[in-house]
Amino acid sequence: MRIPDLLARGTTYSFEFGPPRDEETEVRFWRVIDRLSRLNPSFVSVTYGAAGSTREGTRAVVRRLKDEVGWTTMPHLSCIAHSRDDIVGIMKDYQALGFENLLALRGDPPRDQPEIEPGDFRLAIEIVELAREHTNFAVGVAMHPEGHPHAASAADDRAHQAAKLRVADFGITQAVFDVSHYVGLVNDMARLGVETPIIAGVLPVMNLNQVRRMVELSGGVFPQSLATDLEAAGEDRAAARAIGVGFATRLARELIEAGAPGLHFYTLNLSQATRELFSNLGLDGT
Ligand SMILES: Cc1cc2nc3c(=O)[nH]c(=O)nc-3n(C[C@H](O)[C@H](O)[C@H](O)COP(=O)(O)OP(=O)(O)OC[C@H]3O[C@@H](n4cnc5c(N)ncnc54)[C@H](O)[C@@H]3O)c2cc1C
Repeated sequence: MRIPDLLARGTTYSFEFGPPRDEETEVRFWRVIDRLSRLNPSFVSVTYGAAGSTREGTRAVVRRLKDEVGWTTMPHLSCIAHSRDDIVGIMKDYQALGFENLLALRGDPPRDQPEIEPGDFRLAIEIVELAREHTNFAVGVAMHPEGHPHAASAADDRAHQAAKLRVADFGITQAVFDVSHYVGLVNDMARLGVETPIIAGVLPVMNLNQVRRMVELSGGVFPQSLATDLEAAGEDRAAARAIGVGFATRLARELIEAGAPGLHFYTLNLSQATRELFSNLGLDGT
């Protein structure tokens, strides 16, 4: 199914995964998928590693999720360090395999190769335009409610995000921790004349060190109250999960009340927090 059609039917609830890195994580990954398979998400998406580092891994995982698990599955595709022929080839391959949705991204240079040759593209909007030219995908783009760290100014950032969202079919935000940031983004896009649906990203945080750096690198602000509560939980993983899931549940409800057309759960390839979150929101059908 095309994601715009899913959005037209009502609120979507989607999961994001990263492709497993090796044989050991692969076994764990499919166990997680098995545990999540009865939750019936609206769609799922799979990330694409920096500079094509998971090109084959992403392809293998999305095929299996679509064909064996039966989920509507969207591959991510980031253009950094790729030629135009590469990107067109990957898109056409996905289209031939029967995918109907694509998340078009710029991506970041790999951490160990910050000076990597950027390739033929600079911006995600170019990938959206290329997808329009060569495929009939429904195309999504990444949205940054608190602004992107590489932007010249806040106004510049909003203008660029609006230009990109205008030519896309939907946006998905990075993890939101404060509903007002999401609402601010949606209102600013509307003021710039863009009403394309923006799905809100939700991340149940259980490991402070793992996530705080990730949030800060993406230009977001990690909430101090959540950090304090997680620090107090220390090594008690069950307590940390209860805190993270409780925070994410409250936020998910606020986002829906604020009009978010869908919630995109960053699973970090873990199943229990996502299952608890679904259950708290009354979405697990039990
Ligand atoms: C839902 C989601 C999924 C993601 N999945 C992946 C993934 O699978 N793989 C991966 O590597 N990364 C992923 N990312 C991270 C993303 O690649 C990074 O945030 C990257 O730094 C920006 O990508 P973008 O597609 O938003 O870029 P763009 O929209 O091209 O640009 C990002 C920012 O640059 C600035 N900018 C844009 N155009 C201009 C211009 N003309 N002049 C000046 N400044 C400009 C703006 O501030 C803009 O917001 C994901 C992010 C999100 C939110």
